[in-house]
Amino acid sequence: MRQLILKIHSRCNLSCDYCYVYESVDQSWRTRPVTMAPATLERVAHRIDEHVRAHDLRELQVVLHGGEPLLAGHDGVAAVLRSVRDAFPAARFSMQTNGILLDERFLALFHEYGLRVGVSVDGGRAATDRHRRYAGGRGSYDRIAAGIGLLMRPEHAAVYGGLLCTIDVDNDPDEVFEALVAFRPPQVDLLLPHGNWTTPPPHRDRPLAYGDWLIRVFDRWYDSRPEPTRIRIFESIIARLFGLPSATETVGGEAPGIITVETDGSYEQSDALKTTVAGGPATGLGVAGQSLDEVLDHLAVAAPYRLAAQCRSCPVVKVCGGGLRAHRYAAANGFDNPSVYCTDLLALINHIGARVRADLTRPAAVHQ
Ligand code: SF4
Repeated sequence: MRQLILKIHSRCNLSCDYCYVYESVDQSWRTRPVTMAPATLERVAHRIDEHVRAHDLRELQVVLHGGEPLLAGHDGVAAVLRSVRDAFPAARFSMQTNGILLDERFLALFHEYGLRVGVSVDGGRAATDRHRRYAGGRGSYDRIAAGIGLLMRPEHAAVYGGLLCTIDVDNDPDEVFEALVAFRPPQVDLLLPHGNWTTPPPHRDRPLAYGDWLIRVFDRWYDSRPEPTRIRIFESIIARLFGLPSATETVGGEAPGIITVETDGSYEQSDALKTTVAGGPATGLGVAGQSLDEVLDHLAVAAPYRLAAQCRSCPVVKVCGGGLRAHRYAAANGFDNPSVYCTDLLALINHIGARVRADLTRPAAVHQ
């Protein structure tokens, strides 16, 4: 087990139109408890304790997620952190939030537990408010930017994890890059909007729209090397070009060992699978009845990582790995396909490879 994602609150204070939890074909959130009951949390802690003892585990990343995890409140978040730390003192915590409810009291708690916070924001005001809105339609940028502003204070550098931006190719890539870098995040995740061969992502009719957008941002980042900002998808592609592991599931193939626990204690696969079919991420197993080993064994058989024939003969397969599993889905044949972003990924990987190779022929750059 590498990463356990805990859904500590199943509702959200925003109503983003691209949300894979509430706007997808999978509507399981409707039947979930709003928060994780104390008895469920106790079982989660027991499963962690059982697993780390069985494997003499030294590391485990525990991600607090939702919905919007900060809706669990200060006491609710503290209870989760305390419970997990009691079970496994070496657990490393992170959280993905929309940042709206961030305050000094939460940040003090995060310092106490060494929790690093990632905030979702899609660039500047116009880019962010295009999708990230309240239920009434009002944009959320000002509140999000205020939350990030707190994280940017020097005293909170230790808990500022980074930013997560969902790409909309209608947003200018230069403006998005500049807006994100202005927040001085240690790391940026650029997410391709979820979609598949049956339910295509937006703007699929524009050839290479995502590849061109990402190439533009890559060139800005690679040429300017803005401190302190790392961009995970680009660094992962470079790492894979050198045969090193990827740090994101978007490229490099699937790495096993990530499980989600929903508020009702169900074990699930990646949330992105909510965009495939109703029940897409479900495993049918839960903390009440099965151990973490049992769910990992189950997934190794029920959802194995297999490349499509086109990927197996692809010149960049070792870098790409077929893309994200959810993006390979088609109703006709399941996941036996290349990514719906295949041409974009191929263009991006070839571009990054060419830029890095060109640098490696210059002795000064080799040193750099
Ligand atoms: S670029 Fe396309 S064919 Fe090649 S590995 Fe990626 S998804 Fe498969």
